[in-house]
Amino acid sequence: MSKIFGIDLGTTFSCIAYVDEYGKPVVVPNRENSPVTPSVVFFESADNVSVGEIAKQALQSEPELVCSTIKRQMGNQEFTFFAHDKEYKPETISSLILSKLAKDASEKLGEPVENVVITCPAYFGLDEREATKKAGEIAGLNVLSIINEPTAAAISYGLDVQNAQTVMVYDLGGGTFDVTIIKVADNVIEVVATGGDHHLGGKDWDNAVRDYFIDEYCRENGTTRDDVLNDFELMADLEVKSEQAKVQLSERESTKMKANGYRVELSREQFETLTSNLLENTIQKTHDTMAEAQRKGVGSYDKILLVGGSTRMPQVMKRLQAEFPNIPIEYCDPDAAVAKGAAIYGVNMAAFPAKGDEADAAGAPVVSQETQEAAQEIARTWGIGSGQGAMVIKNVISKSIALQLVDPEDNVEKIFNFIFKNTTIPHTETLRAGTIVDNQTQVHLAIFENDYSAGALPKDVVPAEDAKELTNGDMGPLPSGLPAGTLIEIDLKIDAQGLLAIDARHPDSGVTKHLEVQLQNVMSEEQLQEAKEQVKGISIL
Ligand code: AMP
Repeated sequence: MSKIFGIDLGTTFSCIAYVDEYGKPVVVPNRENSPVTPSVVFFESADNVSVGEIAKQALQSEPELVCSTIKRQMGNQEFTFFAHDKEYKPETISSLILSKLAKDASEKLGEPVENVVITCPAYFGLDEREATKKAGEIAGLNVLSIINEPTAAAISYGLDVQNAQTVMVYDLGGGTFDVTIIKVADNVIEVVATGGDHHLGGKDWDNAVRDYFIDEYCRENGTTRDDVLNDFELMADLEVKSEQAKVQLSERESTKMKANGYRVELSREQFETLTSNLLENTIQKTHDTMAEAQRKGVGSYDKILLVGGSTRMPQVMKRLQAEFPNIPIEYCDPDAAVAKGAAIYGVNMAAFPAKGDEADAAGAPVVSQETQEAAQEIARTWGIGSGQGAMVIKNVISKSIALQLVDPEDNVEKIFNFIFKNTTIPHTETLRAGTIVDNQTQVHLAIFENDYSAGALPKDVVPAEDAKELTNGDMGPLPSGLPAGTLIEIDLKIDAQGLLAIDARHPDSGVTKHLEVQLQNVMSEEQLQEAKEQVKGISIL
């Protein structure tokens, strides 16, 4: 039988896990015997790549042939990596990382890796999720589902899906901060709200240490800041040493940093003062997300889970305890929790496939009967999920959806938000509007997305420069002679996968218009086949 694997396809590291015959999620170490594999790809030649530690080392010697942090480019069709006169898209590069994980796990376990659940950040939009799924397909994997990292972390943490509870996942990584509020009841795992800052992470704490060193260095040596900034060797050295100093301060009360023959001492207390604005920023974003959850009726929390390497800084736990004294706060194993949670979800999914609206973004999983029976055996014996039925994951949309309409108060066309980010999907919103002038025969529909929450703007009118058009079209012709203000109904429908469709109608005449929003930043079927061919010709070390 074929096992079900969970893959954490991370920005800096990736990890693969499965649920063993005792119902325990275990990580499969890679060929180099490490539980995590750097998400770095080295294009040694046109048909040979290495992924992981060796690729990371090649960053020093042949940086132009090494691709790292490709996850940030998922869903960006503009991005291309060039190596040995060949072009590689983000999906293809990610597929090489997935192939390395699958190949090593398959060698270790002596069986093929086929069925997988892959994770992505909660803030990933449809384009990025679809790109992640395509990466799995290019790697020749059967992608059962793409699930959110915080949801996976919560599942692996032993979330008891039968007991109603609300968990907040505070995830501070190297380059991003995410906070996700998850509600669990009766086998349904629902993301209530998600937020954060995708440009805030451990790197900013490193930069604060580096800047402190530079200020001290300049004061002592009579040099200017610009002199230091232009000294590339010193800056490269400071980059590494500031992170080391930061990590040391998680264990020690003070540390010393030496560069260019100059030594600076930094205490944990000073470090915490230097970086308090960064930490406060995470607290503010946490409150913003809690306010979104409150709007949906979620106001009390059973637990805060800390995920991400930067939560090892003692200031994080201390500050959160002070801010939320009544909520228990616990650490989650940052390296393996996400992959393990994905594996648990995969077993549950294969054992008890959900149907229709209950099915998650990937729909019902397609696995062999043998795999399904084996998954059922594990799930029932060891109570994976409830051990009885499908865990259903419900998601929210990460962007607000707006429509262009004339404001009757001043007769000016404006973009009004109608469905707000963090709305649980599937969701339908019906809007009743009137025609603008007598004898109007066409109704123009223009749909936009944006980042504003409910109530963030007066009358929820979105500034045009902040709105991205998704689609537009005309409904008509309407019967002639209709007066201004004739009723037009518009349904905005978002399905469980987050795909948006618009149905407008003039109820009296039955004239209708249907519009769908196509994913714009995803590989076409033709490109997908080409990528599969391209990867077939590459051997992975
Ligand atoms: P992640 O993306 O979750 O792997 O987190 C990576 C970030 O965690 C980097 O900025 C690391 O410097 C930071 N990090 C890892 N270990 C520690 C530690 N012991 N103390 C402080 N920061 C850490």
